[in-house]
Amino acid sequence: MTGRTTYLPDSGNPGYRTSSYHLDLVYRVSTNRLQGTATITARATADLRRLSFDLVGLRASKVRVDGTKARLSQTAAKLVVVPPEAIDAGEEFVVVIEYAGAPAPRRSIWGTVGWEELADGVIVAAQPSGAPTWFPCNDDPSDKASYVIRVATEQPYAVVCNGVLAERSTKSGRTTWEYHQPEPTSTYLATVQIGRYEILPVDLAGVPGTLAGPPALRSRIGHDFGLLPEMMTAFTERFGPYPFAAYTVVVTDDDLEIPLEAQGLAIFGANHADGRSGSERLIAHELAHQWFGNSVGVASWGEIWLNEGFACYAEWLWSEASGGPSAARLAASARARLAGLPHDIVVGDPGPDAMFDDRVYKRGAVTLQALRARVGDDVFFDTLRTWTTRHHHGVATTTDFVALASEKAGADLGELFDAWLFGLAVPALPRG
Ligand SMILES: [Zn+2]
Repeated sequence: MTGRTTYLPDSGNPGYRTSSYHLDLVYRVSTNRLQGTATITARATADLRRLSFDLVGLRASKVRVDGTKARLSQTAAKLVVVPPEAIDAGEEFVVVIEYAGAPAPRRSIWGTVGWEELADGVIVAAQPSGAPTWFPCNDDPSDKASYVIRVATEQPYAVVCNGVLAERSTKSGRTTWEYHQPEPTSTYLATVQIGRYEILPVDLAGVPGTLAGPPALRSRIGHDFGLLPEMMTAFTERFGPYPFAAYTVVVTDDDLEIPLEAQGLAIFGANHADGRSGSERLIAHELAHQWFGNSVGVASWGEIWLNEGFACYAEWLWSEASGGPSAARLAASARARLAGLPHDIVVGDPGPDAMFDDRVYKRGAVTLQALRARVGDDVFFDTLRTWTTRHHHGVATTTDFVALASEKAGADLGELFDAWLFGLAVPALPRG
C-alpha cells in the first residue's frame, strides 16, 4: 500500500523529484507577513507539459522555469506551473517561485499543522502535511532534498532553522539568518522557529549542539537538557554514529501539547522544560528520531511505526542505559496495557485516522522488544546499526526491516512481524 495515495491523497506531485530547496524568506513577526522566493532544483521523471507544487494559503506571483517566465495557476492546495517548453523525462530543471501572504496552519484530520504564530514568534510543526503552509514543495516524505533557508526578520528575534548557521547579518533593524542543511531532508522535517531566544552552544558528546530558548527559562533548560550528552553517547553506541553535523533544541516560550522532531533539531514547549526532568522520556524520544524517521525516513506514512515505534523503544533503551527499568520490563507493561485496549489497529498499516494513535507507537516499540527477545542483544543491536547505515539519509519500508532482521537472525522472521504488525490480537512476548 502506498502512503502517498492512501494516507495523504492531496499531497505530493508526480512527474519530478527534488534535489534542493533554497528558500529566501522575509518575515515580519508583528504583522505575520511572509514574502518568499523558493528556488527548487528537480529532475523530471516523466515528460512534463505542466507540473504542480503543494502550496497552501500563500499566493504565488511569479514563476520562472530555467530562467524563463512560466504560466501559473493556483487552487486551494496546488500551484500549477506551465513551463514555456515541455521538460523531458530525465532533465534537471530549476523553478523559481515568488510568493507571499499571511502564513497560517492548515486544518487536517490530525489537527492544525504547519506555520503557526506563537504568542511572540513562530513555530513550524509540519508533520505530516504542513510544509506547504510556508513554501511550495513536493510534499512527499520520500522525496528528500538539501535545504538552504534564509530568513530576515525583526532584530530582537532569533531564527532557528535546520542545519548549521552559515551567516547572520543585521541591517537597519532587520537580521538575516542563513542555515544550511546539506543532508537529504523530507519536506515535513524542514522548519523555521522564531522567538526571543538566546542561543547557547553545548557539546553533546562530540556532536556540536545548540540550546535555543527564552532567557527566563535558561536554568530549567540547562538542567533538563543537561542529559543530552549522555543520551547521545547511549544512542550512538546502540544505533551508530549521529547522522547530522549538529543537533539543536528549541524551547518555545509557549507551552506545547507535544514536542516534535525536525531534521537535526527538536522543538519543545516551556512546559517540557520544568527543571525537574519531567520530560526526560520525550527528550530521548526526539533525539532518537534523528536516526529513525529523519535519517532513515518512511517511504510512506502508512509505515510510521518505523519512526514512532523505534523512537518509543529508544525511550526504554535510555531508561535501561541510565539505571531505570529495563526495556524488557517497560515493554512487558506496555504489552499488558495494549492487551486491555481495543484490538482494532493494524500497526503496520493503521490508516490515516489512526496513524498517530498511541497504540501504533507503543505496539511498534513492543515489536522491537519481541525481536530483541527472539534474536538476542548482539543480533538485535547489529540489526539496528545496519539499518541506520544501509538506509542512511534515505527511505525504507517495513519489508526492508523484516528482510534485514531475518538476514541478521539467519532465520525467516516474517511470522513474528506479521503477528505484531499486521495481526489485531496482541501476541505474547517471547522470553528473552
Ligand atoms: Zn515521535
